[in-house]
Amino acid sequence: MEVRNYLSTQQAEQWTQMVGEARNIVVLGHAGPDGDAMGAILALTQYLQAAGKKVVPITPNACPDFLRWMPGIDQVVFFRNKQSKAKEALERCDLVFCLDFNSLQRLEDLCPLVENCSAPRIMIDHHLDPEPMAALMVSDSNASATCEILFCILHQLGAYESMTRSIASCLYCGLMTDTGAFAYNSNRADLFHIIAMLIAKGIDKDQIYRNVYYSYTESRLRLMGYLMNEKMEYFPEEHTALFALTEKEMKRFNYVRGDAEGFVNLPLQIKGTKLSISLREDTEKPVVRVSLRSIGDFPCNEMAERFFNGGGHFNAAGGSLPKPIEEAVVTARKAIAACAEKLK
Ligand code: 5GP
Ligand code: MN
Repeated sequence: MEVRNYLSTQQAEQWTQMVGEARNIVVLGHAGPDGDAMGAILALTQYLQAAGKKVVPITPNACPDFLRWMPGIDQVVFFRNKQSKAKEALERCDLVFCLDFNSLQRLEDLCPLVENCSAPRIMIDHHLDPEPMAALMVSDSNASATCEILFCILHQLGAYESMTRSIASCLYCGLMTDTGAFAYNSNRADLFHIIAMLIAKGIDKDQIYRNVYYSYTESRLRLMGYLMNEKMEYFPEEHTALFALTEKEMKRFNYVRGDAEGFVNLPLQIKGTKLSISLREDTEKPVVRVSLRSIGDFPCNEMAERFFNGGGHFNAAGGSLPKPIEEAVVTARKAIAACAEKLK
């Protein structure tokens, strides 16, 4: 089985030229960086550093604790905690990589700084409807993860042979987390061919699984039980679940950033469920974060655009509402009612 060549001959030349000329490179991932964003940033950073580049990986804010094991994590500049360091790197750099996002808006507070940075950009992403944001754009919404595209590009550039175990671990983490540990969006033989090639680099995939999924605190598990037992509303006609998490409840369960990760998937375990909606008060801004997940033919991205100022993938999308959480719940109920036909 062949590994796909993502870059056309012309794009490969463009890549070689842009990277070749650059000395100081910034590698960016989206706000609320997940396993795929962190995996791609860290893998590319290590690849470029091995090629002798000065690289600063930056994300708008911190990644969740269950990703802190990732090789190279200490290098990542979380803009919210280290603003001047990020600013300095963006001022000095001569090339910017944009990984795992389709719009500069996904950089949130970091967006204006990146817009004002005159360095050329290379984008690698797998979200639908990419904005024209870079001189070189490698975008494929059929890919399971940005890490999949990045693996193929590194392979195409001849970097598989010398790929380190640590780069392979980062790429594997992105593939695993963006497919719910290969539970969705992963029905392709070529994906598993890539996984085999990563395992051949000596990664411990079982350990990576435990690092990510068996790393909860007791209070996180109790919060999960509380949400499912006391907070989840279920709409049997619409095959839809809805729950809302307030800041007060987060305090009660010693919430730390990232603790709510994955909760929105839980109601999908109820047989026949088509849609799950989670609402969560943001701990930093006066907005409610919305997450949508569906199984089958319900378009989460359309619902996110229409009701929640957001977007995303067909079966996984998100957005935010600038209103109190009680009102956000009302909006979510209205959204469910408005889509009832599709959900029945
Ligand atoms: P999550 O529910 O994990 O926060 O987000 C799931 C997916 O929805 C993300 O991968 C991203 O594609 C999309 N998404 C989440 N929040 C937003 C948002 O505020 N705006 C847009 N356009 N997409 C979002
Ligand atoms: Mn991704």
